[in-house]
Amino acid sequence: MPEVIEVDFLREEVSNLLKGKEICEVSLKKASLSNMSEVNFSDILKGKHITGARRKGKVLIIDLSGGFSILIHFLLTGFMRIYKECPNDIQVSIRFCDGICLGIGGIMMGGFVKVVPSESIFAEEGVKELGIDVLDPCFTAEKFAQIVRLNRNKRIKAVLMDQHIIAGLGNAYSDEILFQARVRPDRKCSTLRDEEILAIYKSIGKVFEESRSYGGESELSFVHLDGRRGEFHEHFKVHKQENKDCPECGGKIVVMKIGGRGSYFCPNCQK
Ligand SMILES: [Zn+2]
Repeated sequence: MPEVIEVDFLREEVSNLLKGKEICEVSLKKASLSNMSEVNFSDILKGKHITGARRKGKVLIIDLSGGFSILIHFLLTGFMRIYKECPNDIQVSIRFCDGICLGIGGIMMGGFVKVVPSESIFAEEGVKELGIDVLDPCFTAEKFAQIVRLNRNKRIKAVLMDQHIIAGLGNAYSDEILFQARVRPDRKCSTLRDEEILAIYKSIGKVFEESRSYGGESELSFVHLDGRRGEFHEHFKVHKQENKDCPECGGKIVVMKIGGRGSYFCPNCQK
């Protein structure tokens, strides 16, 4: 799914490629995704210009002139890309006055494409309950250690994935981060030593750096605005690698359920 790195690519690409463009025509095929009817959605958006893009956790924020913003949560299977012509069957399409089209599709129930006043973004459901963003400069090693200590009774994998605690990480990145840090996903936070907490924190940065160098992960739906796929999923060391050989020790990767999600790890390398 699009996690923080993928949504961050989209944020950057919207800023670089769409800033200043005027919206000419809008179609909202699936009104249940939004907080308004197709008519209202279209009335508000038409004639507005894109002024920039931001992100909080996995939520993409596209700012418009006139004090409005579009909030998008792609969930597991959503995507957003540019087309020369708007496809007929896509959930949301936004055609700009220069002819190019921004299409948003594949979003399952629970994801959203909402239009809200820019001033109230952080009071919106889906945003207000999010914890500290994993790319926020305030998310320091000390802050992370504090978070782990506060959640002593939870398993570390569940803490990494809990958007109310840390916003941006999902299942795939959490598996890769814990492998890199050599910590089992089912470890209770209270059992983690200071050096293990620091190793996990440092691994977050390393895994992000590697993912960026591959253009993010496109295991499911993510594509860049120009339609290009990321390749990081082809380099996953443990995530979705059940029964394959561990790239470090040659042992078998196993999977266990934590917080309802499959957690992949090497029982030999991760303690
Ligand atoms: Zn191993």
